[in-house]
Amino acid sequence: MKAVRVHSQGSPEVLIFEDIATPAVLANDVLVKIEAVGVNFIDTYQRSGLYKIPLPSTLGLEGAGIVDSVGEEVTRFRKGDRVAYTNIPGSYAEFAAVPEDKLLALPETVPFNEGAAILLQGCTSHFLCHSTYPVKLGDICLVHAAAGGVGLLLTQMIKMLGGTVIATVSTPAKAALAKAAGADHTILYTETDFEEEVNALTDGKGVNVAFDSVGKTTFERSINCLKPLGTMVLYGNASGPVTQFNPGSLGPKGSLFLTRPTIFDYLSDRETLEWRSGDLFRWIAQGKLKLRLEHCYPLSAASSAHTALEGRATTGKIILNP
Ligand code: NDP
Repeated sequence: MKAVRVHSQGSPEVLIFEDIATPAVLANDVLVKIEAVGVNFIDTYQRSGLYKIPLPSTLGLEGAGIVDSVGEEVTRFRKGDRVAYTNIPGSYAEFAAVPEDKLLALPETVPFNEGAAILLQGCTSHFLCHSTYPVKLGDICLVHAAAGGVGLLLTQMIKMLGGTVIATVSTPAKAALAKAAGADHTILYTETDFEEEVNALTDGKGVNVAFDSVGKTTFERSINCLKPLGTMVLYGNASGPVTQFNPGSLGPKGSLFLTRPTIFDYLSDRETLEWRSGDLFRWIAQGKLKLRLEHCYPLSAASSAHTALEGRATTGKIILNP
């Protein structure tokens, strides 16, 4: 089968489109013929070397497709079923072997591209505003990179919970998308100081929570935007990792909370996966949650997809089609 592999970590050119053996199917595995691959920012960290992975590796953590065959102990799925999954390495490929307890039936109403788009970014948005910091009616929330894959979904979910969203984005076109997703205020954080803008928008009171996926360039000022007892949720490193921080500074700034959550801990068992994905599929069917899929590339062009994502040239979700 064809797959996109990394033999040594580095710039997008290290992504090699090549022939490898179809994965072996263990007793509890389902072999999925992948129709659509979801691209996530974490794929760029695993490619660049920010996050270490075994080498060589097939990149990618999520996909949607059709069951091709099942291991002898599989009970929930059979050949021909439409399925989707996340958090299993190796989805930049024509086939993936997925343990059945990580696999979800894809509703007939959800096309493969949408099935590959929703789980990782949708479950992330879900855990951030329902579990890491459960947003309450009236909360004011700072959401960075609000026109990105997670950003657009997180903005919509915070609005469902009755929160106010102050969104940061890099361009006026991205601001329009964040607004359309429900953001109450938008800030062009590449042109103005978002800390000053948040201060002005909240009459100097600050926000209840900052959802910060940008990291290095925003981290300190995001903390400065918080109310006393506010929560700083650092959940990504799009601009680079935060490497130095003095926890003692949280005290004088208002007894603040700081957390660095990852999806792996917030999606660790079947019950939680079914809860979060069930909400997502229901909201999509009800029209409450809208996906934005503008960028679909052939699997062989994965490096172009990474260049666009890291170059801030994308909005919403990026899909690869084998
Ligand atoms: P996005 O579609 O949000 O793309 C990243 C965005 O970050 C860009 O579009 C850009 O938006 C913004 N950005 C700001 N500074 C930079 C920079 N220097 N270089 C590149 N981009 C920058 O990606 P995803 O939705 O896939 O992921 C969003 C974030 O969420 C990532 O940081 C990712 O690591 C994190 N994440 C964390 C998870 C977890 O479990 N902790 C799970 C899933 C995602 P703009 O142009 O508007 O600034």
